[in-house]
Amino acid sequence: MARYTDAVCRLCRREGMKLYLKGDRCYTDKCSIARRNYAPGQHGQSRKKMSNYGLQLREKQKVRRIYGILENQFRLYFEKAERIKGVTGENLLRLLEQRLDNVVFRMGFGDSRNEARQLVRHGHFTVNGKKVDIPSYQIELNDLIAVKAGSKSSDKFKELAEAAAAKTAPQWLSVNAEMMEARVISLPVREDIDMPIEEHLIVELYSK
Ligand code: SF4
Repeated sequence: MARYTDAVCRLCRREGMKLYLKGDRCYTDKCSIARRNYAPGQHGQSRKKMSNYGLQLREKQKVRRIYGILENQFRLYFEKAERIKGVTGENLLRLLEQRLDNVVFRMGFGDSRNEARQLVRHGHFTVNGKKVDIPSYQIELNDLIAVKAGSKSSDKFKELAEAAAAKTAPQWLSVNAEMMEARVISLPVREDIDMPIEEHLIVELYSK
């Protein structure tokens, strides 16, 4: 059997769970987690009890990897989350969900957040009619995110729209896959984030 030891899949194996970083492959039996769910490296199979600090660190890394955020930027998100009224952990997740690359992924355009990020970077999307090619751009309530007029007629986007039509969008986004656009009808809440995340561990980590 061919072995698939892609760097991205190693991130999932490190966290011991599927982070869905590779799109379609994640749902097949080629997924590394489905085949070898232990950490990469020489000592990957030894199961030591993790310290509290270790658990907190792993949770932070996991969320960073899900959303594809660098360490410094993640820290800035946390500091911003602290300044917002409410529960810091939930604020943090909401800020990450409101990134434009995540919204495009949630619209169903792109098999992974990474692919959605590339689509944004290449200038294929507009927010309220203006081109935005910054993946970290924060969307707000009532924003209209759409594929740029010049990109809509391409075969690639026709295929992406077809795929998007078959996906289920979160309830805070009203997606019209045929028109290649989505409206933010409410801001995401904690229940909309379906990955198993214990954000309180991240708050504990940064509160030390
Ligand atoms: Fe690789 Fe996706 Fe499986 Fe993660 S979930 S190990 S990215 S195939």
